[in-house]
Amino acid sequence: MTNEPAAVTGATTSAVPIGVYVHFPYCLSKCPYCDFASRAEAVIPQERYTEAILRELKTQSARFAQGPKRRAVSVYFGGGTPSLWEPKLFARVLSEIRALFDVEAAAEITLEANPGTTDEGRFSAFRAAGANRLSIGVQSFDSHQLVALGRKHSSGDAVRAFQTARAAGFKNVTLDLIHGAEGHTTATAAKDARTAVELSPEHISAYALTLVGLAEEVPMAKAVRRGELVVPDDEVQEEMGHAVRAELLKGGYARYEISNYARPGFEAVHNSLYWRGLEYAAVGCGACGFVKERTDASVGKRWQNDRSPEKYMARVEETGSGEASSEQLSPEDHLKERLFTGLRLREGLDLAALERDLSLEVRARFETEIETLVKQGIAERSVSEASDILRLTERGLDLHSEAALRFF
Ligand code: SF4
Repeated sequence: MTNEPAAVTGATTSAVPIGVYVHFPYCLSKCPYCDFASRAEAVIPQERYTEAILRELKTQSARFAQGPKRRAVSVYFGGGTPSLWEPKLFARVLSEIRALFDVEAAAEITLEANPGTTDEGRFSAFRAAGANRLSIGVQSFDSHQLVALGRKHSSGDAVRAFQTARAAGFKNVTLDLIHGAEGHTTATAAKDARTAVELSPEHISAYALTLVGLAEEVPMAKAVRRGELVVPDDEVQEEMGHAVRAELLKGGYARYEISNYARPGFEAVHNSLYWRGLEYAAVGCGACGFVKERTDASVGKRWQNDRSPEKYMARVEETGSGEASSEQLSPEDHLKERLFTGLRLREGLDLAALERDLSLEVRARFETEIETLVKQGIAERSVSEASDILRLTERGLDLHSEAALRFF
């Protein structure tokens, strides 16, 4: 069985597959490692935020109504903690998305939830409203790790959230794990993965804690720089990654992306759209969208909404859009992104299709780099009349950044 809509595989329809992303920024508390557009709020402005989302959806649907026929194969409610959204307001938003966009009947509709923020009544209401996939932010089942990560839930809450999801009828559940906070060991990281496997969700994401790049200014990163916190070094973190992977593979999950594992047919549709360079409408504070509007100089536009909920709501109330900044992507920019994200996937990317899509030479230009990656056992290549697939090997996925940077 597969949960991958036909529009992604191109099996039965000529409509262009897209995703719709809705961001809900509110959380019960702010985790010290979090660099998402999220904020702890004692009183969430549920009605006002929902009205802003509904208004922005109208603007976005008009943008996506131009050009080729598109079909939404995924709707993703991320955050923040969207399971804090009042279920009746969540239902209004989802029903408006169905009214404004052509949403495939079997579309993946994901809601992110945090343990401790929900009960069976709420989960059942989200399910009844149309959510068919739950993403639960477990992070760890180890009580010391949960404290180190600043999470407010307990290990018991995480297990209960999963069981509640099942009781509410969710047949597609994904659990998020993080390894590498202070005090985490390879043994406890492996135990976290084993516990996740024992619950038997359809999908597991296992990320290493990241305190660089966008996360450089989060409180945990600053505490590490001040020497108040010590996190496992890169070598230990790598060892943890190997141990986690071994447990997940032993448990029957396939690694289909660097940090993502799934039972057959349950690979995340939504994230796969990002990794394959496809379009997504995006509403809500901090949301980032991508639409292909081909001109000679550009393949499309990427935009980002205000990260502050107040500024976002005020902007939407005034203009109908939350867009705070945008950029036109040149074919060269897009090529870099497609190489970078496409190589994250175990399926790899089709260089012949990429050339057709961007009207750029790829294979001739990068012949030496591709040959070297293959010779070094970092990548493998399958060439047929119809395609030319370059994919990273299991070892190559661990060296993804290094491999992808060879093209830049
Ligand atoms: S619950 Fe998630 S989104 Fe909210 S602060 Fe923590 S990590 Fe960030």
